[in-house]
This record gives sequence, C-alpha cells and structure tokens, in this order.
Amino acid sequence: MRAAKQILVVEDDRTLSRGIVLALGGGELALTEAHDLREAERLRQEQPFDLILLDCGLPDGNGLDWCVRVRRESPVPIIFLTANDTEYDEVAGLEAGAEDYIAKPFSLAVLRARVGNVLRRQESSSRVVLDGFVFDFEQLTFTRNGEPVELSKTEQKVLQLLVRSRGSTVPRERLLDRVWGDAEYVDENALSVTVRRLRSKLEDTPGKPRYIKTVYGIGYTWAVKP
Ligand code: CA
Repeated sequence: MRAAKQILVVEDDRTLSRGIVLALGGGELALTEAHDLREAERLRQEQPFDLILLDCGLPDGNGLDWCVRVRRESPVPIIFLTANDTEYDEVAGLEAGAEDYIAKPFSLAVLRARVGNVLRRQESSSRVVLDGFVFDFEQLTFTRNGEPVELSKTEQKVLQLLVRSRGSTVPRERLLDRVWGDAEYVDENALSVTVRRLRSKLEDTPGKPRYIKTVYGIGYTWAVKP
C-alpha cells in the first residue's frame, strides 16, 4: 500500500480544524493539526509534509510571515485559509510563496478539489534546479554541472522523494514504502545501496556527502545548506 500524503492543518478555530480533518482524512491523506505557529513549526521540523493548510490569523502570529520562513527551507506547497478579504492579500500570499488560497467559509467539496489540485501539481512539478544540479523527473534527464548523470528508476524515485522534501528528513520506512512498496520482497539493504549509488553519482566526495545526508536512526535528508 502507498503511504498516505501528509497534510499539516494550522488553524486555531478548533471546530473548523476538526472539520477539515474529518473531511479530508482517511484513505490517501493523513492529517495532523496544529493550533498555533509554534506547534506548526515543531511538527514541521519533526516530519516532512506534502502540503500545509495555513490560517492567516493565529494566536502567536501571522501565517504569512511563517509561510515566508517555511519557504526559505522547504518547497512544501502551502494553501492559505483566509477568513475575509482584508485578512489576506492575494499578492502578498503569492509573494510569500503560497500555492493557493481558499476563502472561508468554504465548502468541503471546494477544499477537497483544491487540495487534490495542489497535490497533483506537486506530484508533477518535475523540474528542480539546485546548485549545480538540474533534475527533471518528467523528461528523466539529470545533470550535474551541465554533465548528464544516468540514474536507475529506483535511484530516480529515491532522489525525487529526498529533493521534494529537501531540508527535512525523510524516514527510511517512508522511502522503503514509497519506492519498494509494491515489491513482493525487498532486500533490507536496498535503500542503503541506492543511496550509496546516488552519492557516487552526485557527490564530489561520496564518503563525505554534502547533499544526501544520513540522519542516524531516522532516514536521509537532502541538505539545503550543504
Ligand atoms: Ca484564525
């Protein structure tokens, strides 16, 4: 089975927050609630999310400011939940790096549709330019300092998961599940071997990686400030 997409809901209106969790939860989506920015930041540091639903007015600050901060470290898509037109400035939201916004009150059908759109877009947002790398997960072309790099299917999948959550640690179980989830049998070294190969192809000094870091006991991370 595929791992559920992880969504962080940052909303201080607990009734609304609960409603969102009930409306979207189960099945393909796993939701986590935070009721202020402090909690949201703590959760974000703990695990990578595929999407953040973010209220603007929170007890300990403004969602827009936090969005700017998150964006410096992570490409995770953010959808603002806005109470009224005066609370949220669309231009400011886009400048802060938000993907979309939904004005309250919204129907759960609209919420589901917007969330689905952003997740699909993210799934296919295929071109990543980082330092000397250009990874195109749609064209399946990968270059390092302009030189093509050949990657196996498995290496591509692992790389994509790490790069998409860059700056956050992706747990081993999640990588195993997403990349080998459909396989009948997985060699327990498969992931370590794949990471070693990726390092040998992408790192200057594979034994002392700048980008693909091991987070002992947890998983791997693509370091944003190598
Ligand atoms: Ca609020």
